[in-house]
Amino acid sequence: MTDAHAVVGERTHDDAALAPGGAGAPARRAQAGPSGVMRAAVIAAPRQVRLAEAPLPEPGPGQLRVRLEGSGVCGSNLPPWEGRSWFEYPFAPGAPGHEGWGHVDALGGGVTGFALGDRVALLSERAYAEYDVADAGSVVALPSALARTPLPAEPLACAMNAFARCDVRPGQTVVVIGIGFLGALLTALAAGAGARVIAVSRRAFALDAARRMGADETVAMDDHWRVLERVRSLVGGEGAERVIEAVGAQWPLDLAGELTAVRGRLVIAGYHQDGPRQVNMQLWNWRGIDVVNAHERDPAVYAAGMRAAVDAVASGRLDPSPLYTHVLPLDRLNDAMRLMEERPDGFLKALVMA
Ligand SMILES: [Zn+2]
Repeated sequence: MTDAHAVVGERTHDDAALAPGGAGAPARRAQAGPSGVMRAAVIAAPRQVRLAEAPLPEPGPGQLRVRLEGSGVCGSNLPPWEGRSWFEYPFAPGAPGHEGWGHVDALGGGVTGFALGDRVALLSERAYAEYDVADAGSVVALPSALARTPLPAEPLACAMNAFARCDVRPGQTVVVIGIGFLGALLTALAAGAGARVIAVSRRAFALDAARRMGADETVAMDDHWRVLERVRSLVGGEGAERVIEAVGAQWPLDLAGELTAVRGRLVIAGYHQDGPRQVNMQLWNWRGIDVVNAHERDPAVYAAGMRAAVDAVASGRLDPSPLYTHVLPLDRLNDAMRLMEERPDGFLKALVMA
């Protein structure tokens, strides 16, 4: 994706370097000198994000504060940005950013296992800011080998956890429907597990990305019957042993059901957040398929997924870096949201740098 994508903005963060926390150091906060305020992005009204000064958050017992390098911009943040009648504006400073990484800069009471200056990834709630706090259990240390690598561990954890529920075995055929950031990661994980991967997507650019992530075959998602025919000709039967739906919409769910073989597994990794769906229960039932909603709600499982993701990236088993197609400064979060809404050619995932 190096040639096709547009890097909108880039910043370096060497200035954020903090003194490493020595063992037994009495200090509980870094010398970086936060003056009680920070910069944070605020969703002030639908489609309006402004940069504001906000109080520096203080870590409570069992929490730590992180000087953020950046945060991923998550598809689930689109409804708050676009506007829904049930949201109240303005949002809290930094909300709803939750895919941050950076350096530990203050420790709340009772926190062990982390030192000031440690580079970490965190699952928090207000990460569109210079600083955010998180429970220690939702913070994962990053190895020094990844010192220069952006690491939005939360969305990587979603992929790791969803993939764990796919139960992919070597030699199986896996159909991935929808190649966004999540679908591309799942493609890489399935290929890495020794499966033959067929990627299905509307966007030619995304199919190219899927190939680079290890897909063996790609199918344009243009017409329902053409997709079924093409995939079935590739699998040589009614469907595949594993089908992953990674869009979160009705049509891909329909395709996924049709393409799951008898006694196969249909894994729903997409986020279906905009209302009920219809399913062809007669078909699902006749084929006796296992249907898995591959989402997690337990923070401990999230944290385990984050650790698994960091391990996978550090060991080279997973390289998400080509998928971070757009890197913008925090004050352009509004543009990042617009990119996510429009999904222009070349877009897979935006990061904003604090
Ligand atoms: Zn997310």
